[in-house]
Amino acid sequence: MTHSLRAPRLVVDLDAVAANYRRLAAMAAHAACGAAVKGDGYGLGALDVARRLVSEGCRTFFVATLDEALELRGADLGVERTERRPTVVLLGGPLPGTEAEIVGAGVVPVLNSVEQVQRWAAAARAADRRLPAFVHVDTGMERLGLPHHGLDGAIDAIGDDLATIEVVAVMSHLACADEPADERNRLQLERFAAARRSLPAAPASLANSAGILLGEAWHLDLVRPGIGLYGGSPRPGEPNPMRPTVRLEAPIVQVRDVPAGATIGYGAAHTTTGPTTIATVAVGYADGFLRAASGRGVVAVGGRRAPIVGRVSMDLITIDVSAVDPSHVHEGAPVELIGPTVTVDEVAEAAGTISYEILTDLGARYERTVLGSR
Ligand SMILES: *Cc1c(COP(=O)(O)O)cnc(C)c1O
Repeated sequence: MTHSLRAPRLVVDLDAVAANYRRLAAMAAHAACGAAVKGDGYGLGALDVARRLVSEGCRTFFVATLDEALELRGADLGVERTERRPTVVLLGGPLPGTEAEIVGAGVVPVLNSVEQVQRWAAAARAADRRLPAFVHVDTGMERLGLPHHGLDGAIDAIGDDLATIEVVAVMSHLACADEPADERNRLQLERFAAARRSLPAAPASLANSAGILLGEAWHLDLVRPGIGLYGGSPRPGEPNPMRPTVRLEAPIVQVRDVPAGATIGYGAAHTTTGPTTIATVAVGYADGFLRAASGRGVVAVGGRRAPIVGRVSMDLITIDVSAVDPSHVHEGAPVELIGPTVTVDEVAEAAGTISYEILTDLGARYERTVLGSR
């Protein structure tokens, strides 16, 4: 008998996150390497990840929301051991009325619009000092940032305001970096270069994980990897250079032998074609195990792959373990949902989504074990 589990268990390997950081930083050796830790560090735990990456030399962390920024800023990231306090960059920018809180916490916002620049400049005047910020130019997402088309008009509106701001960096974001052959990658690089000529001189940041793999021209001064740190493939469908960082297991709660012609689970969505051993496993969509994996996903038992049959329910899945060595198939036995045999990218593919969503959906019911924390 293999070891027994009493609940689904998530093991987060920060040594692997650190190894991925070193790898991405080495690929972009002429740039500084920050880290995207939004979405609670892509589900792994933003504080654990940030503390570990500070010890690897990371000094810039990107978050999406003010609450995420305040959580990082309020925590001890091991700063006393470092010469420079890490910068926490708020990608969403200052929403109206939040400027004083952002200033007070020492968070560096990304200014994404004329209005955000104007309000940040007003906060700087009120504070009687230049306040630090990133300035975002949208070069092809049409989502956040000063639009590259019509940038001159925007700069006319904010020229005086920019002088009151300490522009820590100018940034943009790539729409198609995971498609290296897409000509938009070069187009965005060119638009960004043109925009920078109109803006105050400052370090430039463009590349996410996939952008790092595009090559040195895209690295500029500061890179912003996220998914690669967490072990997802920056280019799904190609060999993944990153190390897996999570292992997710859940226990078998029942095993049964069923005859041919039996139907499994809700909607009788699967019918057995021969005698089959079905194991019921204690994980479901309430744990973030996506229902879209019904009848399509795969797990591993004793290192052997086993298909998910029938629908994913709220707290349970059913798997066909007919081909698995019976010594691994018993109540309490661990089933690998994500790990060395079934990668996070494979799980995502089966559920019709991307590794980002699988990781950020990792649920709260898991027993968490964090390896390699600082
Ligand atoms: C999330 C995010 C990143 C990190 O992207 P990955 O694809 O996860 O590497 C970088 N920059 C911005 C602006 C982001 O929102």
